[in-house]
Amino acid sequence: MTRVLVVEDDPRLVKALVISLQARTYDVDAAPDGATALRLAAARQPDVVLLDLGLPDMDGLDVITALRGWTGVPVLVLSARQASDEKVAALDAGADDYITKPFSMDELLARLRAAVRRTGNTSPVPGTAVVETADFTIDLLAKRLVRGGRDVRLTPTEWHLLEILVSNPGRLVTQQHLLQEVWGVSQRKKNNYLRVYMAQMRRKLERDPSHPRYLITEPGMGYRFEG
Ligand code: CA
Repeated sequence: MTRVLVVEDDPRLVKALVISLQARTYDVDAAPDGATALRLAAARQPDVVLLDLGLPDMDGLDVITALRGWTGVPVLVLSARQASDEKVAALDAGADDYITKPFSMDELLARLRAAVRRTGNTSPVPGTAVVETADFTIDLLAKRLVRGGRDVRLTPTEWHLLEILVSNPGRLVTQQHLLQEVWGVSQRKKNNYLRVYMAQMRRKLERDPSHPRYLITEPGMGYRFEG
């Protein structure tokens, strides 16, 4: 059974989450504040943590940092904050994903399942070197991309970007992470690099590059590969 720790101070939202999760046979613990969350995380060893950033006793970011001191448990941030800087800060602190409130329960459950699936498997492994979608096949080891029976040529930079995204299926990869990995720069001002390369890659991969299905932009945040 998958154990979920819900960290949230809004009792109505806690109640809704607990009911929905228990109905899907998750084992749920709930903490109304950061101190309780850290205590329960150590005592109950959850498989995934749903974390509100705005807690009464401490900042959710500090909860993430404290957790990351000893555990790699997936952390899914529930954020009422619209500012993307806050979300980037949460991801940089070690959160795995975020959902902006208000969210639909279906979306939350889908993200939760994805977070649990990824546990301990966030880096490329040989078994996942070939990625198949409805439109193309990527062989990461052979550096070969086949679409509609034909080889599609990618530049080394495009390969590098695609490798990072494909190795984190369904997961938001921040602009900062991509820039750092591919260009070794962290300035967000270089985001135009990413826009240019993503547009090129979409022309090569997507049926309709203006409505991408695989290379998804998360505005102000980064990119997500949907396989
Ligand atoms: Ca709150």
